[in-house]
Amino acid sequence: MKMAMQQVSNNCFAVLCEKNRVCDANSGFINRAGGVVIDTQSDLPHARQMIKLFGKVWRGMPTRIINTHEDGDHVWGNQLFEGAEIIAHRSVPERMKHVANPEEIQKMLHGVADLPTRQALQSAHPGLVAAGLQLREDYNFDGIELVLPTTVFDTCYELDLDGTEVHLIYVGPCHQVGDTIIHVPNERVVFTGDVIFRQGTPMGWVGTYAKWFQCLDLILQLNPEVIVPGHGPLCGIEGVVEMKAYLQYVRDESRKCFDEGLSALEAAKRIELGPYGEWRAPARLYMNVERAYREFRNDAPDAPWDHAAVFDAVYQVAKARGIEVEY
Ligand SMILES: [Zn+2]
Repeated sequence: MKMAMQQVSNNCFAVLCEKNRVCDANSGFINRAGGVVIDTQSDLPHARQMIKLFGKVWRGMPTRIINTHEDGDHVWGNQLFEGAEIIAHRSVPERMKHVANPEEIQKMLHGVADLPTRQALQSAHPGLVAAGLQLREDYNFDGIELVLPTTVFDTCYELDLDGTEVHLIYVGPCHQVGDTIIHVPNERVVFTGDVIFRQGTPMGWVGTYAKWFQCLDLILQLNPEVIVPGHGPLCGIEGVVEMKAYLQYVRDESRKCFDEGLSALEAAKRIELGPYGEWRAPARLYMNVERAYREFRNDAPDAPWDHAAVFDAVYQVAKARGIEVEY
C-alpha cells in the first residue's frame, strides 16, 4: 500500500495512492469545522490507512464526507465514518447501488485466487484474470457495506466551514453520472474527483466528451493553484490542459477509425499513443475509444458496460502493442 499525505494549502490536504493503477484513488481533507473528507478509498485497509494519515492533522474523526461520484473506489470506505453526514449529487445513492455493489469485484478476486476457477476463466477471459490478479496485489474488498449519501444536492451546494467557503459543483455526466468538483476559493484548491486523471489513462463510464470538455473549461476558469485529481499526483492547471488534449486527441482519432469502419478494439490497437504511452495503463485507451464510438452511434449515454469484456479488450490492446498488461 503506497499512500502518502501532502498538504495542499493552509487547510487542505490530500492522501495520494501512489501506484496510480485502477482503484488507486485519492482522498482529500479540509481541516475546518469538524473536518471534511473527500472520497473514502477502495477498500477498508486503504480507508483505515487514509484515516491514519489524515489523523496526523485532524483533532477527531471528521463529521462530513463528500463523495465526488458513485464509483466504488471513491465510496467503499464510507462505513468507517460512523454517523458522518455524507454529501453527494442527487443521482449518487441510487447509482451506487448498481455500480458500487461490492459483490461483483469480491467474486472476481475470490475467483482468480482459486486455481481451478482461474484456469477455467483464463481462456475465455484472460483480461479479467489479469485485472483480478493485479487487484489482489493491493486490495481486499471483503467486509465492505455500502453506506449511501445522507445529503444530496442538484447543481450546487455550499458549506461554510467556520468562515472557509467550500463550493460543491455538479459537472456530470462527464466521467460518471454523479461527477462533482469541490472548490475552496480562499485557498485556490479544487478537488476534481475523476474528471481528472493525472499521468494515468482516464477511465470514463457515463457521459459525453462535450460535457467533459465543459467541465475542464470550468476548472480552468476557477484558476486554482493546486488541483487534487481523482487519480495520480497533484497538479496545477497544466493537468487540466493535458487531460483536455488527451480527450480531444482520442476523440478525433476515434472518429477517423470509425469512419473507416474499424471496430473500437481495432481502433484502440492502431491509434498512436504518442506521449500518452508514458501514462499509467495506456491500453485503457480502449475505454475512451469505445465511449467515442458510443457517441458516434448515438447509443444511450448510460448504456451499461460489461466489465469482463472491458478488461479483456484492454488486455488485447496491450498484447497487440507489446506493452505490459496493466489496469
Ligand atoms: Zn476513480
